[in-house]
Parts: sequence; C-alpha cells; structure tokens
Amino acid sequence: MRRVYAQPPERNLNVPKRLQESFCYNRPVRILVAEDEARIARQLTTALEAAGYAVDTVQDGERADFLARTSHYDAVVLDLGLPRLDGLTALRGWREQGLKMPVLILTARASWHEKVLGIDGGADDYVSKPFQIEEVLARLRALIRRSSGQAAPLLQCGDLALDPRSSRTTIAGAELRLTSHEFRVLSYLMHHRDRVVSQHELSAHIYAEDADRDSNTVEVFIARLRRKVGARRIETVRGLGYRMVTLEAKAR
Ligand code: CA
Repeated sequence: MRRVYAQPPERNLNVPKRLQESFCYNRPVRILVAEDEARIARQLTTALEAAGYAVDTVQDGERADFLARTSHYDAVVLDLGLPRLDGLTALRGWREQGLKMPVLILTARASWHEKVLGIDGGADDYVSKPFQIEEVLARLRALIRRSSGQAAPLLQCGDLALDPRSSRTTIAGAELRLTSHEFRVLSYLMHHRDRVVSQHELSAHIYAEDADRDSNTVEVFIARLRRKVGARRIETVRGLGYRMVTLEAKAR
C-alpha cells in the first residue's frame, strides 16, 4: 500500500516578494509520463531521467489516474490517446479534485480541436507529435517556473546556484558533482528554502514509484550533500526536517 502525502504548503507569503525572487524557483523533481507508445515513452523517460528528474512511466490512463491522485508529481506529461481511460477524462478529474500540478499534453495530431479540449480541460501546454525532445524539456521547465510564480531560469541560494537547463550545480562558480538523488534533494530544498521540509515530503518528491523510499536514505543523501555543499547550508530542525540556510544571511 502506497502512502498518500498531504499537499505541500504554499510558498511562505510572509517572505517579502523581493527576497523570494532573489532566491530560488521551482525545480521539479518528480514527473509522471503517461504514454502508451513504447518508443515515445522510452524516449521521454530517458531524456527526463538524463535531465535529473525522478520519472514514473505508465502506459494506460487508469494507472496514470491512480498515480496522479495518490502521489506527488511536480509535472505530468500526458498523452491524450490512452487505453482504459483517455487522457482528457483523467485530466478533467484531476482538476475537479483540485490537483494543481502542471500538465503538458501530447496530442496525436496537429488537430486544433484536440488542443482546445485539452487546454480547456485543465492542461497548461501542449506538444504535437512528432516532437523534438528538447522542446518538451524546455516547455516543462517553463511550466514549472510559471507554476511557482517565477520567471528567471536560474535557481540561486546565495552563491549556491543550480541550473535546470544544464543540471549543473555550482558554488561561487565552481562546479559540484552530485548524484541524481543528491541533485533532487538539493533542488527541492532550495525551492522550499523559506520553510522546513520533512523527510516524508522529500521522499515523496525525489523517488520514482518503484524506488526504495525508506526515509533513512534521505538522511544519507543529506549527509553526502552536506559534505559537498558545506554542512552549515543544510540545517536540521529537530523532529521536523531540514531547511536551507544562506551562509551570507547567517554571517550577518
Ligand atoms: Ca496514444
């Protein structure tokens, strides 16, 4: 039985907008791909994983619907022509339930009515097949930026910077070598730097569905990250979780 997690809280509105803008923007880490054409599904999954995301890939609408309702996705890539439950019906149900994750639909043809139905049904953007994978990746990055109210493409916390376009992380310009899980943990913490992030929430966002999500492993990733970025940048809040600290702010 999978655990069901509460929706993460909205961005802390008590933090002045000027400061929010100067820090970070949403780095999505977990993506659901619903596509029944094996070749396209493989192409999307490979490209998204190479870009550092945790990816769950499903071939039918019922499975997509179940996962979207019971897991935490930062974005969904949804083919409209799916077996068992079509993508449009699934999408409408998610929006009725109040699920807000960005949804990029894949339309089988360049038919205008399919795009209109999809966007009116709650999709945020579309790509027509056949597509260039780079366009799908760029549209996803833009959707996530907009869903978190951000426009700048670079995520920054003080001199620590993470670029979703290249999956590069740097401190004062010097590149860090991170594993994909370390990268996901760091980017999730950076996005939610205004608050404490629990271990449960981190595990809900950094693992694909079939991964071992023992929360102890989150502790291991945090320990490794601390060695790489500096222990003081990731604070442990006893009994609650972790919080990013900008060293500049602490020094003042
Ligand atoms: Ca299809």
